Order: sequence, then C-alpha cells, then structure tokens
Amino acid sequence: MIKLENVYKSFGDLEVLKDINLEVKSGEVVCVIGPSGSGKSTMLRCLNQLERITSGKIYIDGELADEREMGKDLKEIPAEKVQELCTELGMVFQRFNLFPHLTVLENITVAPKVVRKQKEEEISKIALPLLALVGLEDKRDEYPSRLSGGQQQRVAIARALAMQPKIMLFDEPTSALDPELVGEVLEVMKKLAEDGMTMIVVTHEMGFAKEVGTRVIFMDEGRIVEEGDPKVFFDDPKEERTKAFLKKIL
Ligand code: ATP
Ligand code: MG
Repeated sequence: MIKLENVYKSFGDLEVLKDINLEVKSGEVVCVIGPSGSGKSTMLRCLNQLERITSGKIYIDGELADEREMGKDLKEIPAEKVQELCTELGMVFQRFNLFPHLTVLENITVAPKVVRKQKEEEISKIALPLLALVGLEDKRDEYPSRLSGGQQQRVAIARALAMQPKIMLFDEPTSALDPELVGEVLEVMKKLAEDGMTMIVVTHEMGFAKEVGTRVIFMDEGRIVEEGDPKVFFDDPKEERTKAFLKKIL
C-alpha cells in the first residue's frame, strides 16, 4: 500500500529523516513512537507530500508518487497524478482544525462536495454512516465550538474518511485532548482498524499500540531504530535506545 525507500529529508542543514525504509501492507496498523523531534510528523508529512523529500522514493498504492535525489526530481510525475495518489491518504492531526462556520455534517461533506464535486445524494450516502461510525448522529447540525475536544476529533476523523481514503495517517490524534476524552477517539480508531483500514498512527498511547497495532516502529534522531510485533516489541525490546525510551514513558 505504502512504501518508503531510502528516504532522506533535510530542512537546510538539519537532517530530519535518515534512510527511512518502510513498507505498509493493506490492513496493517503501524504505530510510530519515538521522542520529540525524532521525525515522526515529518515522515507522515512527506508521505502525503505536505513536505517534499530530499532523496529517496515514495510509493502510494503501488505507484511511484515521488522520486528524488539531492532535492531534485528524478522522475517527472504529473501534479494531477500526485494529487490523485495523495487523496488515497486521509490525515488526522493533533489539532482538529474543523471549519468553525460549518456544522458537523457540513465539515464532513465539504471536501467531497467541493473537491470531488459529488452529488448531494451520493455524499449523504457516505456522510451519514460516517456520523454513525463516530457516534455523532445527534450532533450533525451543531457547530464545532459547541462540541468537546473528543467530539471535534471524531468529526475530524469522519471528515478525513469522507474522501474515502485507502490509508489513514494519524499524527498524535489524542495528545491535545483531556485524558477522559482520549478513550472515545481511540475507540473510533479501533473500530476503523477492525474494519480493515490500513493505518499509520503516531501516538503516545502505548495501550492502543499494544492492543490494536499490528506493528510498532520506534524512531529516534530521524532513523527507524527498531520495529516489531507489538507484543514482542514492548515486552522484549532489543535496542538500548528503545529500552531507555520505553523505561521513560511506561
Ligand atoms: P513531536 O513528538 O514533538 O511531534 P516529531 O517526531 O513529530 O516530534 P518532527 O516534527 O518531525 O518531530 O520534527 C523533526 C525535526 O525537524 C525537529 O528538529 C524539527 O524542529 C524539525 N522541523 C520540522 N519541520 C520543520 C520545518 N518546516 N522547518 C525546519 N525544521 C523543521
Ligand atoms: Mg510530531
């Protein structure tokens, strides 16, 4: 579904991603953990081309989406093609960034309406089940300011899903939430995983990684230091850096 090959990313002199190799297969739930500044967000942002990589290759859904060396394109990939591939990725951020002047339902339907130019009827067919999935049918006509953080984040998930992505990227979706609201968002993500969605989740929620993750990746200083099956990874980490990190957070 997704493949990063020898991916490097620098901001000026700062090398943020160093030789990242990662393949995510259909139905996998890959949880990415690691200290602040290790490059987790940058990796996700490179995947959906919010940032361009400095060198390496990115494949989305088996197709080459980016190929660069020393910051130069090796292969001309038409902008429309890149855009099309990127719509297969849905992204949910730490801050939900809902449109404040649109209702819950309008937040969910705006992209299919404006970007895809889908018909009202088709959109309802997608949006209403999504409202049910995230448990917000009774809030469809509310404005975001009248929702809790957990509810807003659930709308953000539904909004990303409305574009019918094949892969969902989550960047610390629960870390801006009050502790008592974390569970309801993780619950929605768990349901998505059980429905077979392919997911990459940057998270500090080790319980989620252990229970729902099919694989855990530990990043430090721009590299993937260790990866493995969650059960094995948490119970028996191999690398000293992983051990030190887990000791600090668990
Ligand atoms: P956190 O857990 O705090 O979210 P992270 O693992 O997501 O951290 P990144 O946000 O990917 O880390 O940042 C990795 C490094 O890249 C940091 O040193 C950061 O300061 C730097 N960085 C990120 N974005 C930019 C940018 N647009 N310009 C310059 N430096 C950046
Ligand atoms: Mg981050």
